Amino acid sequence: MNESDKAAFAPYYQLRTEIDALSESLEKQHQKHLNCKKGCDLCCMAISVFPVEFYAIKAELGIKSISELAIPQNDEDCRFLVDHNCAIYHSRPVICRTHGLPLLYMSLDDDEYELSCCELNFTDFDLDDFDEENTYPMDRINSKLFQINKDFVVGFENGRYSETDRIPMAELITTGF
Ligand code: SF4
Ligand code: SF4
Repeated sequence: MNESDKAAFAPYYQLRTEIDALSESLEKQHQKHLNCKKGCDLCCMAISVFPVEFYAIKAELGIKSISELAIPQNDEDCRFLVDHNCAIYHSRPVICRTHGLPLLYMSLDDDEYELSCCELNFTDFDLDDFDEENTYPMDRINSKLFQINKDFVVGFENGRYSETDRIPMAELITTGF
């Protein structure tokens, strides 16, 4: 990755570092309620990401590694899921770094919170015991990512993307390099 890419994507990589630290802390707290393991991949669906995330991953991976690693699968599975493993694990998107953990969102309909977690985890955990201290603050994470992307798209390729555009991860393979 060249120096200009490093500077352009620095806020995104910084957020990713914060997310990894939070994931590690929550994994320690909830270890006995997590069934996540190598080869378990129900959470790996085809997703779209903001341009900043798409191009930061692209810059990090490089052309050759992407075309070598990704294999065609069906439309629902992530194209980077290879033999039940993530082929781009170290560069995987933010949402993938929260897989399996309890995610807390503010409900769109009212002032209540909504919790989301994999059905394979927390099977014997009382959901009422979740609170702001032992869950992922998804609204805070998403608003930081939104702002980082907003700052990025303003200066990227003469405004090619709007702040709400998303790009399918699969396009890392299909768009020209
Ligand atoms: S990028 Fe990796 S972790 Fe994320 S959905 Fe695809 S295979 Fe799973
Ligand atoms: S989040 Fe669920 S599907 Fe994904 S690895 Fe963990 S237990 Fe398996």
